[in-house]
Amino acid sequence: MSLRNRLTLQFGLLASLVLGVASIAIYFLSADYRKDEFSQRLISRGENMAKLLIQIEEVDQNLLNIIECDNPVRLPEEQILIFNFRDSLIYSSEGLDIEMPTKDFLNQVRLDGSIQISKEKRESEAFLFTDRYDRFVVIVSGIDVYGRRKIQNLGQVLAIVLGLGMIAFFLVGRVYAERALSPIKQLVAEIAGISISNLNKRANEGNGSDELAKLAISFNAMLARLEAAFVVQRNFIANASHEMRTPLTAISGQLEVILLKQRSEEEYKVAIESVLQDIHKLNKLANRLLMLAQTGTDAPEANFRQVRIDDIIWEVRADLKKMKPDYCIEVDLDETITDLEELQVLGSDILLKALILNLMENGCKYSDDHVVKVSLGVRANTIQLTFTDNGIGISEADLKQIFDPFFRSNSIRNRDGHGIGLSLVKRICDLHKGTIKVSSVLGKGSTFTVSLPIKKV
Ligand code: ADP
Repeated sequence: MSLRNRLTLQFGLLASLVLGVASIAIYFLSADYRKDEFSQRLISRGENMAKLLIQIEEVDQNLLNIIECDNPVRLPEEQILIFNFRDSLIYSSEGLDIEMPTKDFLNQVRLDGSIQISKEKRESEAFLFTDRYDRFVVIVSGIDVYGRRKIQNLGQVLAIVLGLGMIAFFLVGRVYAERALSPIKQLVAEIAGISISNLNKRANEGNGSDELAKLAISFNAMLARLEAAFVVQRNFIANASHEMRTPLTAISGQLEVILLKQRSEEEYKVAIESVLQDIHKLNKLANRLLMLAQTGTDAPEANFRQVRIDDIIWEVRADLKKMKPDYCIEVDLDETITDLEELQVLGSDILLKALILNLMENGCKYSDDHVVKVSLGVRANTIQLTFTDNGIGISEADLKQIFDPFFRSNSIRNRDGHGIGLSLVKRICDLHKGTIKVSSVLGKGSTFTVSLPIKKV
């Protein structure tokens, strides 16, 4: 069932219920009031008759019947019986057609003071009338024709009002639901109109304070995040393609030049070596891009295991030395380490190798002496790795951007690199629930400090 129909139904049922309860209450209270009022009229008629008959000596049954014959205050179908203390009937209306009461009934009236009886439409009041010398039982009965007709009429009016009210409530409910839901409809239409080609479009935030406005605000905030992510992704692809194109252009350029004429064996060898170097760079770039993409989307935590950081440092150092024999990597285990077994973290050895390799390589690459000092220590349940170099340093402004993918400082354009290493390092740190800090003085050198939580054995 649609929300509009559900709201209409709920509104209609609720309003009808209230009107129904009110109508039933009015009907029964009126019926009760009629009964009480008729009862009072019966009693006062009975008392008047008893007074006339008992207290005025000249009046007897026959005279009373003659007086009462055309009395306009007579009740419809009125019947009156009066009994003395010996249970003898001393007065009865003409044309009596009600049952004679039993002696027990008369005694009960004397005991209780008054008794009410209803039989079909006829209502009766039996009560004790006390004279100065005697006690009489008066029974008055009649049919409240007008009162009952009024109540019947009221019942019909209430039923019609209830029926019409229910129809009106459902119609009004429908209009109300339509109006209440129209901003949602509008919002849905606006949202449906937003696609990848117009991610800059925003939904109308209305008055900015009601629930719908809050929904629109949240949706717009989500759109803004998506748009930002989309821009980052687009830039990433553009940057990655650009970085790939440079070595590819170099390779094709070199091959084209070499093919222009017949070359000596030596020339071919030099050209092939140069091309191979470019292919290695391309391969390295592709590997880093792949790792960056994987650390951004996959959940490598599932493959985490215990890793000894000092082992990795030695392994990476050896690999780097093999690739760049002129690089000098000094490793120092500081005195905070009491047991080498402490140097365990929960993580991926491949990713941690990439982290350490990038920081070691950068330290050597960006310093003229190609020296990086790696020190390893333990502080407050974390393993601290610092990479210090005496290189070119990083400016204040660049420090804010060095972890962005493809960022490269303008001052180092002559050195190899693609600006991916540090963004990869940052992601690997995050994945291992670690932190990375950097302090640097331009022209003096830089220190990168990585903290990784210790995995207790
Ligand atoms: P790449 O080294 O390939 O350019 P990175 O992401 O590793 O990419 O580094 C980003 C930038 O941060 C570098 O281009 C450089 O400007 C700066 N940088 C990183 N490490 C150092 C360092 N040890 N000394 C000076 N600058 C550095």
